[in-house]
Order: sequence, then C-alpha cells, then structure tokens
Amino acid sequence: MHEFRNASSVLIGTHLNPDGDALGSALAASLFLDGLGVANEVLCHHAPPKNMEFLPGISRVRQRPKEEKHDLALILDLESLERLGSTEPYFVECPRMVVIDHHLPHHSPGDLRLVDTSAAATAAILGRLLLASGEKITPEIATCLLTGIVTDTGSFRFRNTNSEALSLAASLLEVGGNINLISEEVFQKRPYSSVRLYGHMLDTMSMEANNQLCYSRIHFEDFQVTGATDEDTEGFVNELLSIDTVQIAFLAREAKPGKIRVSMRSRNNYDVAKVAQEFGGGGHRNAAGCTFEDSMEDAVAQLVPRLKACLASS
Ligand code: AMP
Ligand code: MN
Ligand code: MN
Repeated sequence: MHEFRNASSVLIGTHLNPDGDALGSALAASLFLDGLGVANEVLCHHAPPKNMEFLPGISRVRQRPKEEKHDLALILDLESLERLGSTEPYFVECPRMVVIDHHLPHHSPGDLRLVDTSAAATAAILGRLLLASGEKITPEIATCLLTGIVTDTGSFRFRNTNSEALSLAASLLEVGGNINLISEEVFQKRPYSSVRLYGHMLDTMSMEANNQLCYSRIHFEDFQVTGATDEDTEGFVNELLSIDTVQIAFLAREAKPGKIRVSMRSRNNYDVAKVAQEFGGGGHRNAAGCTFEDSMEDAVAQLVPRLKACLASS
C-alpha cells in the first residue's frame, strides 16, 4: 500500500484482449488511486469489449499515455510483459514496477510482486489489499472488483471458486457493488451474431480420444458470414468442456487472417497451461491459451497430439 501512497503518478496496465478481471482490476486500482489523490492512467493494447462498457471509469482506458513520465508501473492480471502488447514500452520505462497477478509464474517481471496462484482472480488479491487499507471503497470500486471475481470464476462455477472469492464478494456487496448489473451486462446480453456463430461452432465440432477431447474451429469466413467478432466467442469453449465425457476442450479461431487464437479448458488435473506454454502461450492449469501464426489446419494438427498426450499422461 505504501507503494501506492508514495507514488506521484502511476501507469496502470493489463493484458491484451482484456477480460473482466483485467479491466475490473485496472479500473478499481485507478479509481482507488483517484481517492488517494494520486495521478494515474490506465492503458490497454485493445479497446475494452462491448460487454465491459458498463464498468465505472471505462472511458479512461487508453492505448497511449497522456503524460510522459510516471514513477510507478502497476501491472495487473498478467505474467508476461509481452501480453502488454503495444503498451509494453511505456511500462518498461517506469523506474519501478509492481505486479499483482494470479497466473502461474513463468517470466516473473516486476520489482515488487504480489502473486497468488490460489487466488480466484487478480481482483481478489487487489480487493483483499484495498479492503484492508482503511481507505474508502466506493460502490464503483466495488463493482469493478466484483466484476473481476465474478467473471474469472464464471459466476462462482469454475474450480478456482473458493471461500475467499465468496467472502470478498459479500464484502464488496456490502459496500455497494452492483452484482445485478454485472450479471445482466456480462451474462444476459449477447448479440444475435454471436448466438449464430455459437450454433455454427456446435455444428462443426470434433471429438477425439474416446470423446475425451472436443474442439471446434471458427474460420475467418465464419466471422464474416455471421458478422460476429472474436469477443463474441467469449465463453464458447466452456460449453465444449461441459459435454459429460470431455476432459479437455479447445476452440481455435481466426478472427484476423493468418492469426489463430486458441482457448483451452480442462477438467481435474489435466494441465493445459503446460501445453499452452509449449506453444508460447500461458494461463492456468484448467484455462489457458496460445496464438499461432499458421494456418488453422497446421495449428490444430500441432495441438491435437499434444493434448492427447496430456490426456494419456495424467
Ligand atoms: P482465454 O481462453 O482467452 O479466456 O484465456 C484463458 C487463460 O489463458 C487466461 O488466463 C489467459 O491469461 C491465458 N492466455 C490466453 N491466451 C494466451 C496467450 N496467447 N499467451 C499467454 N496466456 C494466454
Ligand atoms: Mn485475465
Ligand atoms: Mn484473471
């Protein structure tokens, strides 16, 4: 906490393709620093997805800083500075870097690291810190933190859901966090194009390894035909994993020609983060991802044998 109080200007950053935890944590930190009277800016390589536009303070997320100099970099919800994308140079220039994260340590950047892989979300680690600070936690800050916890636990359904996530959520509701707003904006609103693409993904899915491995591919033309975007595929892969025999699922999609983004999910001890790391990606044991600059078929051909080996080894 004294890192925050002593700073005169903080540059807050999070990962590309930002999710609810990335943006919720970054905006909670930003609003909290406002309360302390500490100047700050929030940067992200990509613009926030549409379903996060309800977050208090979302309009402050920028791709380039306004100010030239910051004395502290605060990096949230990422493990490799590469995932800062085009904003990375601005953070590397800061004389001091604090990292708050819950991913498996791999690169371990930062001068001060607050990393807890057992935390359900980065927003849980930050929430713990802010609630203990004695400073005022406004309803807006609470909604941001709650969004991180709710989205990273899949509304308290994923395996990372723990008592801390639930008790922090309760504390955040007590100070005015709006969980109804989050449920509505994040989980109960989908563009028509997204639902059409979802139908296509189910129609074209494949099964391997005795129905234990399920995957689907979304080609560039599928995005064009439906008018959906990559952010509209959020959550799709979890539906593949929900098939009762499936232990590992992945969704490969080509939202931009020549770039294949893969989301992997697994049950139990099957460690998809290890497989993602082999392909230059990362994540958590049960939720990981990586990116290929190959054709869809080459990407799938590389992944399937590795995931079958993962099924066989555990
Ligand atoms: P997603 O499938 O995009 O929801 O991501 C699941 C998890 O994998 C997240 O915790 C991400 O941090 C991680 N992840 C996804 N894509 C990548 C990537 N290209 N490199 C590193 N980590 C990734
Ligand atoms: Mn994240
Ligand atoms: Mn997270």
